[in-house]
Parts: sequence; C-alpha cells; structure tokens
Amino acid sequence: MNGIEKDTQPPLEAERTILHPELAAPPDESPVKNGRRLQHAEGASHPIHPPPEREPQPRGARIRGNHRVDQTEAAERFIASPAHEKMHDERLWDLRGKRDRQMHSIPEWEELRTLASAIKEHTLTHLDQYLEQFEQNARANGVHVHWAKDGEEHNRIVHGVLRDHGAKTLIKSKSMLTEECGFRPYMAAAGIEVIETDLGERIQQLDNEDPSHVVVPAVHKLRGDVAQVFAAHLGTDPMDDDVHHLAEAQRQATRPLILNAQAGMTGCNFAIAETGGITVCTNEGNADLSANVPNLHIASIGIEKVIPRLEHLAVFVRLLSRSALGSPITQYTSHIRGPRAGGEMHMVLVDNGRSARLEQDKFWTSLKCIRCGACMNTCPVYRRSGGLSYGATYSGPIGLIIDPSFNRHKYSALPFSSSLNGSCSNVCPVKINIHEQIAAWRQVMAENHELTLIKKAAMKAAGVLLAHPVLYRAAITSADSALNNLPRFAIYIRLNAWGRHREVPHAPRESFHSWYKRNRSVP
Ligand code: SF4
Repeated sequence: MNGIEKDTQPPLEAERTILHPELAAPPDESPVKNGRRLQHAEGASHPIHPPPEREPQPRGARIRGNHRVDQTEAAERFIASPAHEKMHDERLWDLRGKRDRQMHSIPEWEELRTLASAIKEHTLTHLDQYLEQFEQNARANGVHVHWAKDGEEHNRIVHGVLRDHGAKTLIKSKSMLTEECGFRPYMAAAGIEVIETDLGERIQQLDNEDPSHVVVPAVHKLRGDVAQVFAAHLGTDPMDDDVHHLAEAQRQATRPLILNAQAGMTGCNFAIAETGGITVCTNEGNADLSANVPNLHIASIGIEKVIPRLEHLAVFVRLLSRSALGSPITQYTSHIRGPRAGGEMHMVLVDNGRSARLEQDKFWTSLKCIRCGACMNTCPVYRRSGGLSYGATYSGPIGLIIDPSFNRHKYSALPFSSSLNGSCSNVCPVKINIHEQIAAWRQVMAENHELTLIKKAAMKAAGVLLAHPVLYRAAITSADSALNNLPRFAIYIRLNAWGRHREVPHAPRESFHSWYKRNRSVP
C-alpha cells in the first residue's frame, strides 16, 4: 500500500517540465520531506483526527401540563450524553474558578457582599416607598409607567403599546422576567415577530428552547449543536462549527432585523429610585441597540429590581459580573433615564408573585437575587444535569427556591435536586441563604403532602431509625456488613438510587460511634 502511495506522489518542481505547459497545475506549496511531497494531512500543522461521532443534544425535562416535573429523569438523559455533560461541567466550573480569582483580587469582597445584602434587605422592607419614588421620577423623565400584577397583564400591556404604535416587529435583549411571563408565545399568537438579540438567547429562540442559564442561555449546547441550528435556520454549513463563523452568521442575519424593527425591549438589572433610571448590563451591547435603534422602547422590570440611590449601583456593579463570569465588569453597563430624542419609552413594573413571596418569612430574602448565576456555576447537580432538566424558568439552586413559588405542585420535586452542600450560599453576592431555603421548601412539600410515595416511605423509615439510636446503630452495622459481603447484583438494585450512576463506597470496618466509644468516651 505504501509503495503505491509513493508511486502516485505528485511530481516535484524539477519534474514539472515534462508536463504540457497548458496542463500544468499551479505550483504545489505543500511541504517536502526527505524528497517526498507530503500529503495534505501529513503536512498540516496539527494532526487531523476524524470528527468525533456527533452526540445528539439531550433535551430538557418532559413537561406534561401541571404534572410534577421529573428533574432526575431529564438529568439522567443529560448524564448519558458524556460530551455534553463534560463540556457543561468544565465550562461552568471554569466560570466558578474565574469568579474566585476576581473575588481574591478585591480585599473588601466580603464587605461588598454584606453591603449588597443590606441594601437589598432595606429596599425590600421599604419596597412600596421606593417603587413610588421610582415611578414619580421616571414619569418626570418623560417615561410612561405601567404596573402589571402578573405575566398575563404584562403581556397585555406590552401588546397594547405595540398595537397603538402599529408595531409588528420587536427586537429585545435577554430578560428572565419575560421568560417568566411567557412573552414570546403570547406575542407570536398576537402576530408580533419578536427577535432576540443576545447571541445565546437567539440560538435558544431558533432552537425553540428556553434559556438553560440566567447569564449564558445556550451553555448546554456544543458548538456542533449550534452549527446544526444555524444550518437549519440561517442556511450556514452544518459542518462549520467555528465559533467566529457562527457568531458572524448570527450578526449578519440579525443586524438587518434590528435596523428595521419597529420597537425595542430590554430587561433591567437595577432600577434606581432616586433618578427614575434603569441600568442594563450586557456583554454584547444588544440592549443598547434594542433601547436606541427603534423609536419605541419598552423596559420590563421586576419590582424587586429597585435600589434606592445611584451610589448603591457601584456596590452591585462591582459584584455582578465578577460573580457571573469572573470578569471585572460587563462590556456594557448602560444607564437609561428616558426616551431617546423624538422617541417614546414605557416601563412595565411587574409583580408576578413577588409581593406574595415578600410575605413569606422563610423565602422573602430570595428576592435579593441579582441573577448572576454564580450559584448555578458552583452547584454539582446543576453542572451535571443542565439547566433545562429543571423544566422551569429558573434552574439551579435559586430556581429550586423561586419555581415552587409559581406552582408548588408542579415543582414539588425540585427542592430535592440539591446536595445541600452550601456552596451556593457561599458564592452568592447578596448573601442569600440558598441551601437553607431549599431545605425549608422540602419541609413545606412534606407538610403539604407533595412528596412521592417512595420518598414518603423512605422519609418515614429514616424518621423511625433516627429517633431510635439503638435501632439506628443496628441498621448501620447490618448495612455495612451487607455492603461488604453481598454480591453486586444484590446491591445495585432499582431502589438504590445512589448506585445507579456511581459505585457505592466501601463501608468502613468500624463505625465512628464505636471508634469514639473506644477512644474518647469517659470511663
Ligand atoms: S441566588 Fe445569588 S448566586 Fe444565585 S443567581 Fe441570585 S444572586 Fe446570583
């Protein structure tokens, strides 16, 4: 075989003279080694490997009306896709590492967290005053202010504004609030074309998926997945997964839509009561386009986004991007106070369950959340199961607290998708006691009979064991001896959820209790 290859090598420069000039190929510039012209692959600077077999993108939780969402089922499918799981885990852990480096570069980091938490708690406990102040100042700035009690009303108000202006196309920047409100489906039904301008969010829109993360909405997708989506919707090459090409394709396809849109929409990171202005933080500048290119700008604002004074913004801006992406600041931190010259601006202040949560002793501080996503990036469950496995607007640790407040039954299993290791609370820039609130939701679910039969039985058995020390010790001893002596098939049964994905650890020869008794107990 090698001999044949050698004989069919393209001729070297010296041999070219024997060819008819009109048939001569352009000079071959591939490298020559030991007098032999190298084949394309051999001459390349990097070895060319066959492309890995494409792994289909695992999809999110199966939603069936008001039925309980089974996060573990969707997580199992995600884990069964090793390329996706590995990339997702590594990418988010990398963000966590960058966040740590930024944190260590700021000596007053903990002071900032304490301040941010205190500002938010103060604002939430005086929310009515600050909202009124914000409204007053926004109106003085020439902004039309609306109030919406829920998502439905928010959508109706926005639709009314668009209808009054005869607007049929709307460009928008990323906003988790509009996801909460089911905004895009509502507008689609009303015949309004909504174009997401954030790259990740646009990918998700084209793929008909929700965002899987509050900051990086398409982080669960491999480059190849995006190439497939763009090939189907933008006509690009499905085999070209070069990130620069993909980003450029999106830019080329979206820019004309932005320039021709009749209205623009943004979310809001902070609403400043003192000025009536809002601040929007992005890394792509797409919020600025959405707010400034069309004449009509609508901002959707959750009522918990208000902060008292402009000077407080400095605290949050220093924390937000460092916690989210491990970068000192977002590329764009835009302050918008009123309509652009000759334009019109509307703000919709949305409750959608927030004031009800404010009344809940155990959960009201979750309203301090600034949606940085740090708790997701650090969570071992989230990193290995993907945000879409939660089947809800919010995923990861903060999602386990927020989602059940929208629908207790549907999201009753979510608070159990946590190891309660507390890492989420440690990284939270506004010091929300996330893992304690998750545990509190478990209690609420148990008290409201929302546990599955298997969980209920397991909890009952655990309750009996833990209430009887003698019984507990006997059970531990026999479980240890069973683990050490039983064959695998008897241990790795269906009921052994732990053993479904990993090896059950070896039982120690001696329990802590008996070691303690032997070594430390007072005679
Ligand atoms: S709960 Fe804290 S860490 Fe999680 S997204 Fe909100 S602010 Fe960030």
